[in-house]
Amino acid sequence: MEVGASNQTVRAKTPSGALRDALGRPLTSLRLSVTDRCNLRCMYCMPEEHYRWLPQSHLLSFEEFVKLVDIFTALGVRRVRLTGGEPLLRRDLDRLVNLLAANPLIEDLALTTNGVLLAEQAGALHRAGLHRVTVSLDTLRPKRFLDITRRDEHTRVLNGIATVRLAGFSGTKIDAVIMRGVNDDELGDLIEFGRGNDAEVRFIEYMDVPGATHWNVQNIVSRAEMLANLERRYGRITPVVSDGSAPASRFLLSDGTAFGIIASTTAPFCAHCDRSRLTADGIWYRCLYAMAGTDLRSALRGAGSRDEIAARIADLVRSVWRARTDRGAEQRKADQARSAFVPLDALQCDPHLEMHTRGG
Ligand code: SAM
Repeated sequence: MEVGASNQTVRAKTPSGALRDALGRPLTSLRLSVTDRCNLRCMYCMPEEHYRWLPQSHLLSFEEFVKLVDIFTALGVRRVRLTGGEPLLRRDLDRLVNLLAANPLIEDLALTTNGVLLAEQAGALHRAGLHRVTVSLDTLRPKRFLDITRRDEHTRVLNGIATVRLAGFSGTKIDAVIMRGVNDDELGDLIEFGRGNDAEVRFIEYMDVPGATHWNVQNIVSRAEMLANLERRYGRITPVVSDGSAPASRFLLSDGTAFGIIASTTAPFCAHCDRSRLTADGIWYRCLYAMAGTDLRSALRGAGSRDEIAARIADLVRSVWRARTDRGAEQRKADQARSAFVPLDALQCDPHLEMHTRGG
């Protein structure tokens, strides 16, 4: 049964001639990590005291990001998401939004933020042409927020969420990573909070992404468990049929309130994954779990005319995407002795392995 619900994610149609990888998955979604810096230190993402940052001179300018995005959209990308690190730490982000919004091939231009700086920037981002905002918020309790993020910014995040609607955005999402014994008692409260703020809540299973050095299997709360928990409070929950590439499975409460669950740990969506990621220094990753990426910055800054460089990068992207076979989350799931994915010393040698560098 197809159940309609308002506030649905914009799903761009796959262009007919879209570039496909070795498993038939189209290149349609690109995430731009505009900075590796973050103003929170979430226990599941940046639990360490010290990090190695990308060199300043390697960071792509907005114009360089736009050149690369133009190449990707010419090859079929239709959804672009700004992320990080914390994207709102990148100065004048609205200027990048404005440049990207001028690209008519981008059907969905979105932002993922922790919300700390959102109250100050939401208006400018909306005016610049941003389509949608996703805010990460794991708890409604200030003390718990401090424990999870190690920064006292809860009030600013709540203010940021309140500002999103006033700034004119719709289709807002609130993403919460659910961890056993940490915030698994707040599922219903978060749904209520989303309802009060015109936002659809999505619960994310705790993932063993690189950087989650404290991850362990006991702390996962599975999609099945979340649904059972919510059914105790709300009664019958109905699944919503969605298109294959969406990461979240969506559900409706009996009053029509929609919510989502991203079950990347227990039910990976690798078979339909159309996403790739560009780091702030121009390294392109085809999987969140990939150990290596493709250096597009060097290609972009290499010799040749603008057209020659663009053609060279397009050829590179085409050949690399066609060869793509990554199914990182499925491979992790198959590992019986699963523990933290990348050891701390390896992360410290290569900041590109970090989730906050490659963009969550
Ligand atoms: N700073 C922005 C934010 O907080 O939304 C964007 C970057 S953050 C890395 C993107 C998303 O990744 C957030 O929703 C965060 O909760 C999620 N994330 C980070 N580590 C995770 C993990 N170990 N498991 C599941 N989700 C994770």
